[in-house]
Amino acid sequence: MDLEFTGKIYTLTGSEPVDSMIVRDKQIVYVGPRVHGIPRETVDLAGATMLPGFVDSHAHPLWLGLLQKQIRTNPPFANSLDEFLSVIGESARGVAKGQWLLGGGFDESQWSLPRLPQRQELDRVSGEHPVLMMRACGHIAVVNSLALKLAGVTEDSVDPQGGKIVRHEGVLTGELQESAIQLVSRCVPEPNPSVAASAIVDASNYLASRGITSVCDMECGDGSHGEWDLYSEGLRTGSWKQRVGIFIVFEWFKASGQLPLIEPEVRQDLKLLGLKLFADGSISGHTAALHEPYLHDGGRGIMRLGESVIVEAAGAALSHGLKLAVHAMGDAAIDQVVTALSRWGGQGGDSFTIEHAALPTTYAREMMAKHKIGVVTQPIFTYAEIESYLNGLGPERTFNSYPIRSLKEQGIRVALSSDAPSTAHADPANPWLGIKMATGRRASTGVALSSDECISLTEALRSYTEIGAAVRGFENCGRLLPGYAADFSLWDKDPFKEGPAGMPDEALATYRNGEAIHSGKTWTAYRERGYFSDQAKD
Ligand SMILES: [Zn+2]
Ligand SMILES: [Zn+2]
Repeated sequence: MDLEFTGKIYTLTGSEPVDSMIVRDKQIVYVGPRVHGIPRETVDLAGATMLPGFVDSHAHPLWLGLLQKQIRTNPPFANSLDEFLSVIGESARGVAKGQWLLGGGFDESQWSLPRLPQRQELDRVSGEHPVLMMRACGHIAVVNSLALKLAGVTEDSVDPQGGKIVRHEGVLTGELQESAIQLVSRCVPEPNPSVAASAIVDASNYLASRGITSVCDMECGDGSHGEWDLYSEGLRTGSWKQRVGIFIVFEWFKASGQLPLIEPEVRQDLKLLGLKLFADGSISGHTAALHEPYLHDGGRGIMRLGESVIVEAAGAALSHGLKLAVHAMGDAAIDQVVTALSRWGGQGGDSFTIEHAALPTTYAREMMAKHKIGVVTQPIFTYAEIESYLNGLGPERTFNSYPIRSLKEQGIRVALSSDAPSTAHADPANPWLGIKMATGRRASTGVALSSDECISLTEALRSYTEIGAAVRGFENCGRLLPGYAADFSLWDKDPFKEGPAGMPDEALATYRNGEAIHSGKTWTAYRERGYFSDQAKD
């Protein structure tokens, strides 16, 4: 049975907007001007605007869902060091002694006293619970003395490869950077399966409310969660709603010697897409690897890998028909990664991507263009965490960071995404925040970055839909064209009229494969007022 949607429909192909889209068996079969005279079931958009469903090509849905159940310390939950500590202290009161206190989301550079919490401060509010709080970036953790004790970390402990146990005059501060976080995190009991299952349901509903119909989980295999089993189960029961692509952490793949088996029943919607590596840390946590030092401490960040590991991971990905996504933010790390990937010459095809790519050098841009290395980036970082960029990089490097327009002009494919929840923003997967930043390059505080690197709204939307799908290898989705999956979102504002800043956070409704996976109150009201017709109208 055909279902026709009539109203304002943006296909982002240039001839905008059209007023009819017909869906049959989960697929779009027609998009264009309305053809009258054929009786069919019709949905009148009643003034709503239709866009392709968003493809969040880099996110961490399980972590996103789990974090909502833990201690949240990003604004508005905590706006200062004192509030951060009191939120933890309050949580400690409701938890049995000895149980872990877990949480995160904070960005200390936004506090009036812009420094990380110290171990002794955490001890004062929660000395009898081990505490592990992740910074918003996910590359730095602060822990208390009990957590260090349980992990066996002492002042004599040696820094692990690719990580740092921070000390001040030889004394542990409780700050752990990059791979050193695992010294403590591996002592934390895995969430029980029902908590993990409900976390991904929460994440799925939230993503759907933001118009997101496809998403990639970029760090699978790290814990014993078996993310792919959670997604499989969610797809089978209908509680997980998006098309999902997973990337397996290379170290896990290497140690286990296996790739997860995806059950045939869910292979349509759950794809094993690639392997994942981390070449450095984050700019906002000041662990991204730089050529020139950070301003605040003179350090150059952390290179987590040798070049040979990147070459090896690329080979493993190619031999299994997978993609390789490498986290690299700082200029030094990006240079290292493109050099390593170029060793595969033309064999990489379009299988390789750099994730984030905050500070690509001229050399890196040339190598990306030459070797078809894509970029998957997140304008929400500079939108929400500009203070940490300015503190660490200073105005000039910050001003020129994320040169999306230049990358595109060099022929490099650039997809936009959220990296939710690794941002301090309270609405971490909201695509309009990233689109607003990509088109206007003005941070939430009003600080402006180089306007030469702004891209158009159409280009930003395409980067968050079609290009994201193409870079990741999701087939036949991300566009409103015949033959594509009927994945779309409906909005009560038109971004081409209001601008991305005028868009509501929540979609009126979100459809995947022609079925509603989200419908907000307003859309329900539209339907109740009779805009939704089950009978043929013509
Ligand atoms: Zn990353
Ligand atoms: Zn990430």
